[in-house]
Amino acid sequence: MGNLSEHFDRDIFACKCGGCRGELKISLTLVGILEDVWSKFNQPVLVKRAYVCDQIEIEEPGPKRNYHGSGKALDITLPDVGLLPEVFRYLETFPEISGLGYDPDNSYIHLDLREKEPVKWLYQRREEKPLTAELRARYSLGSEVSADRSKKSVTIDIPVEI
Ligand SMILES: [Zn+2]
Ligand SMILES: [Zn+2]
Repeated sequence: MGNLSEHFDRDIFACKCGGCRGELKISLTLVGILEDVWSKFNQPVLVKRAYVCDQIEIEEPGPKRNYHGSGKALDITLPDVGLLPEVFRYLETFPEISGLGYDPDNSYIHLDLREKEPVKWLYQRREEKPLTAELRARYSLGSEVSADRSKKSVTIDIPVEI
């Protein structure tokens, strides 16, 4: 049992820059989604990047930094990276997720809760490419999955105040 949710400790989502003593902002909606993915795939979900404080730059292109900097974005992977295309497709069904990117070279998925038009993309050599049907096919993502609007919003019990 983590101290934030069933599988996650607060530390996992804190800034790792070393300069800010682990500042933390995280949307509990995201934590709930990770718990959902964990049980769906029966695999640990590994968080590669969560909150970043304003003392560090990150190498992700585009405005991702802002979403990480407000606790509304995560970069995640699984021990079995071969499952990532399937995880991506599963994440597409969450209406809460409005930014969804897949980096097959570096084996991670970025998800965020931007308050803007939903967007999906694929990183090729760190460049953001719109997720066309051709790219979907090339990276085993199949045809586009639409969000399941009837899906109940993710909620989790929160054992601690953050
Ligand atoms: Zn920091
Ligand atoms: Zn990211």
